[in-house]
Amino acid sequence: MALSADLLAMLRCPACVRQSDTAGLLTLIQDAWLVCQTCDRKYPIHDDIPVMLIDEGTRWQHTALAELPIADSR
Ligand SMILES: [Zn+2]
Repeated sequence: MALSADLLAMLRCPACVRQSDTAGLLTLIQDAWLVCQTCDRKYPIHDDIPVMLIDEGTRWQHTALAELPIADSR
């Protein structure tokens, strides 16, 4: 099951959300990652639950999209 569009629309990067109304918008990558359009932190999705922790996003901030591990949730 994919992440719902409604939930996705509500989510913002916790590191950026306070900056402005439009900061911290997220892009869904392969149903496995949420990538912040403002700071490029990357939040993993485990079992359809986004892990929206700044520390977790920072771990992957400088990892290229192509190098993100995909689909370990089975
Ligand atoms: Zn951000």
